[in-house]
Amino acid sequence: MESIAACNWPVNRSSVDPLGGGDDAHIDQMAAGRQWLAAIPQPAAILSLRDEDDIFVLEANAAFTDSFRSRRISQIMEQVAAEWRDRVNSFIQSDRVCDSFELRRDGPLGPEYFMCTIGRLPVDGPAQFLFTAIDRTSDRTIEKNLRRELLSDGLTALPNRTGFGEEIDDRLSNTVWPDNAQFGIIAIDLSRFSRVNESLGPMAGDELLITVAKRLKSSLRQGDVLARIGGNDFAIFARLNNGLSDALHIVQRIREALSSPIRLSDLQIRVDCAIGCALSIDLQDDPDDVVRKAQAAVKIAKRSGKVEIYRNGVLKEAQRRFSIESRLREALAHGGLTLAYQPLIHLQTGEITGFEALARWNDPELGHVPPVEFIAVAEESGLITSLGRWAAYEAAQALSRWDVRFGQPLPVGVNVNLSPIQMARDDVASMFEEALRYSGIAGSRLTAELTESAIIADPDKARKLLFALKDLQMPIAMDDFGTGFSNLASLHSLPIDILKIDRSFVSSMAEDRDKAVIVRTILSLAESLNLKVTAEGIETQELALALQQMGCWQGQGYYFAKPMTEADAFDYWRARWNFETI
Ligand code: C2E
Ligand code: MG
Ligand code: MG
Repeated sequence: MESIAACNWPVNRSSVDPLGGGDDAHIDQMAAGRQWLAAIPQPAAILSLRDEDDIFVLEANAAFTDSFRSRRISQIMEQVAAEWRDRVNSFIQSDRVCDSFELRRDGPLGPEYFMCTIGRLPVDGPAQFLFTAIDRTSDRTIEKNLRRELLSDGLTALPNRTGFGEEIDDRLSNTVWPDNAQFGIIAIDLSRFSRVNESLGPMAGDELLITVAKRLKSSLRQGDVLARIGGNDFAIFARLNNGLSDALHIVQRIREALSSPIRLSDLQIRVDCAIGCALSIDLQDDPDDVVRKAQAAVKIAKRSGKVEIYRNGVLKEAQRRFSIESRLREALAHGGLTLAYQPLIHLQTGEITGFEALARWNDPELGHVPPVEFIAVAEESGLITSLGRWAAYEAAQALSRWDVRFGQPLPVGVNVNLSPIQMARDDVASMFEEALRYSGIAGSRLTAELTESAIIADPDKARKLLFALKDLQMPIAMDDFGTGFSNLASLHSLPIDILKIDRSFVSSMAEDRDKAVIVRTILSLAESLNLKVTAEGIETQELALALQQMGCWQGQGYYFAKPMTEADAFDYWRARWNFETI
């Protein structure tokens, strides 16, 4: 604006008087214009044209002079003037009666905004235009502050989830990035935050969040953005010049920043956090997508206790887990699961001593879901208690149905698997008692298979449960033996009857001498402790014979039979009873 004024402002009125002649009518008109302008409180001026497109200020009021003319020419003002001239010129060239536009310029106290309007004056002779400007700077500042509140977290003053997205967009579009640059999102979840809130109150929780925010901020590099994207969730947007290694450096710094305890009133609290990272492939990646991936990684980190980097497929995994959980709930409610029965063979006589009951699930939508997958989801979601109850009842019922078909009790039992989570959450002893009573089966025919982890998790509870099962005459087997941490001696005081040597030792015993030594050691220790041993995963006759010679009591594996339906299992038994050989 100033530049226009500087070159066109009529300092010497007669030299620039566009009306040329200076006749009385025009002098009157200008005097009237001056009075009109003086009556307008905001900056206002009458503009005219010289040589078709050269705009100049014919008359201006004091507010206009204050706002636009009193400043010294600077580069910024020249830019503003150029923009202003373009806008005015394009209006003049158009056939519009009036126009308005916003003008932004850098003032001494920050950006200034003017809402400008321009309209045609109905005068004879050369065209004249009335220009007015309203200072909108304070409105814009209020808007900006409101927006900042909307985009930031009141407690830590960090950007919130929405603000984080805007900051990322701003960084991606307004900074210069090298060609091969990537960005990363590091998601941080404060693990014990809810406990602090519950036990010390929300004020302490707030204080903890503020301190953590400060410490996280100290681990940032210039240009990184820290945000609080949820109650106890923080996230960092980081520019990565060296891919993952840059991200891991930041993770290292976060760990260091949070390593010393935080003082909350009289307490020193150590902050635990789960960290998940996701890297963009290039700068075109959708930042929201990368944030979601980092959040998926942090969920896994919460379980694993390690820093997790998003792998392709993690989101799909999470979605699959979710659909497994909802379909499994449905299957449990409507009888969608079945039990398959795998024969257990007495290795010395070849007799079928019983069957292991293994859950099977063929879902109409998901198809066949392997037990390792749905048992893990059931354990995570708590559905394992109903699944476990169903399996115990169903196994006991299958025995009683076989007995009915055979006309008398079959000389076989069924093994039922127990999950450590089920043992922790459910009253497993009463469950078995009811299942046995309901089906009229002797406790000695139902073996409980449990794993070492169930005992390690809560030894006292496990001990009580095992003795309660013994009161029901149930045999107890230790499943997957050898894969856990317990030693045989520690099991000695527990009423365990059978050790099932894990498949990983048995199946490779022939090729791997170490595995064979382990199997032999387990067998001799079990003998001295008066425990029977079942070998899992016997896939060849060679293995069956080797284990027979080593004195192993019982075997199970594909060599004998794969798990089969209830009806097939009955036929399998009836076809072989009395004349088995291995
Ligand atoms: P597990 O209790 O150790 O069961 C033995 C697993 O080994 C079964 O897998 C069986 O099919 C498999 N298997 C048996 N012989 C062989 C062999 O010769 N070669 C090979 N490669 N595999 C063999 P499955 O049925 O997939 O079950 C996996 C696990 O799922 C079970 O391991 C058990 O921990 C769990 N599970 C199955 N049903 C239930 C259930 O009703 N409740 C609970 N809590 N867990 C269950
Ligand atoms: Mg088992
Ligand atoms: Mg097993």
